[in-house]
Amino acid sequence: MIYADHAATTRLRDCALQAMMPFLTDCYANASGAYPFGQAAKKALEDARRQIADCIHAAPSGIIFTSGGSESDNQAIRSAAEIGARSDKKHIISAAFEHHAVLRTLDALRADGWEITLLDVGERGIVSAEQVAAAIRPDTALVSVMFANNEIGTIQPAAEIGAVCRQRGVLFHTDAVQAAGHLPIDTEEMQIDLLSASAHKFGGPKGAGFLYARRGISLTPLIYGGAQERNRRAGTENIPAIVGMAAALAEACAEMESESAAVRRQRDAIIAALSEIPGSMLNGDAEMRLPSNISFCFAGIESETLLLLLGERGICASVGSACASGAAEPSHVLRAIGRSDALARGALRLTIGAELTDSDRQTLIAAVRENVERLRAISHR
Ligand SMILES: *Cc1c(COP(=O)(O)O)cnc(C)c1O
Repeated sequence: MIYADHAATTRLRDCALQAMMPFLTDCYANASGAYPFGQAAKKALEDARRQIADCIHAAPSGIIFTSGGSESDNQAIRSAAEIGARSDKKHIISAAFEHHAVLRTLDALRADGWEITLLDVGERGIVSAEQVAAAIRPDTALVSVMFANNEIGTIQPAAEIGAVCRQRGVLFHTDAVQAAGHLPIDTEEMQIDLLSASAHKFGGPKGAGFLYARRGISLTPLIYGGAQERNRRAGTENIPAIVGMAAALAEACAEMESESAAVRRQRDAIIAALSEIPGSMLNGDAEMRLPSNISFCFAGIESETLLLLLGERGICASVGSACASGAAEPSHVLRAIGRSDALARGALRLTIGAELTDSDRQTLIAAVRENVERLRAISHR
């Protein structure tokens, strides 16, 4: 099998499993327990918080644990909206190519009377700080622009956007789910106020994530109940997953430089080879993109059929984000970069990992090339 869908999820890192094991077995205490057994769980929780905070250059008290990227995005945006509303600021700026966890939250706020501006991302799939600056109004409560896009892999100028937002007194949230553990993140230097991340995108377990909020930003709970996470997120802490997430992130950050250099080399070789297929178009900027991301549109083919054929050859790839029904609604991200619906229907996203060998790469390239040609031959018969 060749797994080329790392943007969808990743394999659990060994270090994460090792870190989790004691908390799945003998160390099962509730972190709220007043006895030493519970205090050990509490200590693991706080150690994990510190480890994660270090990886993104943040204060540990600013990290809260959630069920993943979607929950973090929801809570970040809801919180900023509520803070804004207190001073009658009910305008939010985001971008057309955001993850649905952001876009659907914004839809809900729009229905409740907030005004939402979605910035264009242009053919390169990048939001500029100038666009953000031009869109900010006196009643703007929040700018939410993702750190890196999950479909086309484009990396946004987070530090520049952060600087504009800080200067204009507007909160800046970034969905860093695709970036955490893969790109250097410094919440201080980049002036990020709120940041979302998800463990399973960097070798941690599924169903765990975190939200960072800069000191002084009050988070609105989405879940009411106990006083866990200092009243910001009720429910017994998922200690094994949190500990696994911290171990995975620490390792991903420690190995980032060497891992991303190797992955980038494979990516560039694949992009060069697939670019030679007639009627192929690379989606998103060639330079400002995640080391793992290869996204193409192939004219005259249907992605679903291509994915089936690749699947038969043991290749796990995707079209981008999950299609709603079988109705093959073209991706909102490809639309946002100006791809026609016809072209967007022939999209392919390969997101590779460090385990990809040179021989895997050759297999992958040959399989894509052969199957694109085969599908075109069939459709022209
Ligand atoms: C995967 C993903 C999410 C959702 O994260 P979950 O942990 O699966 O809820 C949000 N944003 C982006 C950019 C993603 O890639």
